[in-house]
Amino acid sequence: MFWADKIAEEIAKTKKPQRVDDAKTPSGRVHVGALRGVIIHDLVHKALKDAKVKSHFTYIIDDMDPMDDLPVYLSKAKYEKYMGAPLKYIPSPVEKNPITEPVGRTCEAKSYAEYYAYEFIEVFNKLGAKPEILWSSRLYEERRLDKYIKLALDNAEKIQEIYEKISGSRRPKDFIPFQPICEKCGKIGTTIASAWDGKFVSYGCSDEKVSWAKGCGHKGRVSPYGGNGKLPWRVEWPAKWAALGVTVEGEGKDHASKGGTRDTANVIAKEIFDWDPPYDIPYEHILFGGKKMSSSKGVGASALEVSEVLPLEVLRFLMVRVRSMQHLEFDPSLEHTIPDLFDEFDSARTSKDPDLKRIYELSLVDKRVGKYFVLRFRDLVNLVQIPNIDLVKEAEKKKDGVLTKDEKELLEERIKYVKIYLDRFAPEEAKFAVKEELPKEIKVLSKEQKEFLSKLANLVTSAKDAEKFQNDIYQTGKDLGLTSSETFKAIYITLLGKESGPKAAWLILSLDKDFVVKGLKEAS
Ligand SMILES: [Zn+2]
Repeated sequence: MFWADKIAEEIAKTKKPQRVDDAKTPSGRVHVGALRGVIIHDLVHKALKDAKVKSHFTYIIDDMDPMDDLPVYLSKAKYEKYMGAPLKYIPSPVEKNPITEPVGRTCEAKSYAEYYAYEFIEVFNKLGAKPEILWSSRLYEERRLDKYIKLALDNAEKIQEIYEKISGSRRPKDFIPFQPICEKCGKIGTTIASAWDGKFVSYGCSDEKVSWAKGCGHKGRVSPYGGNGKLPWRVEWPAKWAALGVTVEGEGKDHASKGGTRDTANVIAKEIFDWDPPYDIPYEHILFGGKKMSSSKGVGASALEVSEVLPLEVLRFLMVRVRSMQHLEFDPSLEHTIPDLFDEFDSARTSKDPDLKRIYELSLVDKRVGKYFVLRFRDLVNLVQIPNIDLVKEAEKKKDGVLTKDEKELLEERIKYVKIYLDRFAPEEAKFAVKEELPKEIKVLSKEQKEFLSKLANLVTSAKDAEKFQNDIYQTGKDLGLTSSETFKAIYITLLGKESGPKAAWLILSLDKDFVVKGLKEAS
């Protein structure tokens, strides 16, 4: 059984409606790795619905979190002063930036948090994951967390004990689990709460709390409600579970270790907020390798960048087919990574194996279901480089029938991604171009190879059917005592100036016959 269906089956035993949740801090351009979490939660949500369990899927943008790292692609002069401020109150890197919200209305990113969150949301929406988007700042402003803020503050000592017992980390004796926004400098990463009197939290804005931001030294007293600050992450997480009724939520495995964030959050949920911890789905991260995926500034591949080099369903397939705790490595700079992925996608499409069929079904993002024909990615890599070739005709020959409208669209789409592959990832060996002039490499040809070329020149004029012609080429070489490799090398060297290339017959038939005959004769 497919892994998400197995999880859904287990959860279905509770016979209760489910709330699936995931979250992300919009601290900059979102790395493709974060997509795995979204897709895993989306799959479980969809599997639950298929198992006839009522399920709602939410995604929280943690925009109250402080900026704790300055991305290299941003101006230090402009952004350094915001280090430690909540992401919601930091200006967007782009002034006028019309973006389409998931609900369809066009608006502008009003903040740093919105800018990067919308960029990411757009990608996962396109990938078919459409959770309800919530913003942590609004949860505070709309006072949906008030009850839990009070519970946390009233139980500060107990929370401290839980921290110590579960994670072994010690907090100062008077630890108050709240981070106010400094009323003077607006930072949240620098404040230390020192007292809670049941109405107000006293705090100081410190220079020494964190290494990445400097506080202003202000001392103040604020109500902890209505967006004046936030709970520390290990407390905020279970508070959100309890406030929203979350029943299913996983996390990257670095938070799932024994004594880690998840363990602490589980105990706080139970003992402080009286909420059963959600069903846990820990998952492995994506190892996204390859220099070619990183921009010149040394940034890892963002979700947006990756969504531009693969069709949506193939990118989704990459994540759907792997169990959540399995490593997912993807290095598009390796020669076979992308062609192999397309092959695996195509074979899942036509598979009779129930798991693979299910994986394929859950990888689709639009209506493209059912049977259809599409040329293999690997074959197209060669075909698109042959000049003057009619790719629709080639596809129809292979299909042995006329392409439908959908199949033509699909072919167009695949050609687009083949070109991206050739442009950005394919090794030099996979690329070729027909030489206008006779290449200098022909001097390596043997006497027999030259004789073969001369015979081939005569064959070309009458050749029509590519399959038959390919066989004739092979036979002609064989009759002259050449191996298959020697035969075809002679052709590639003459036409392409290199030792390998696409299927020779197709290549020759795609070119102007007079041009080929002239070249072959000169070379021989
Ligand atoms: Zn301050």
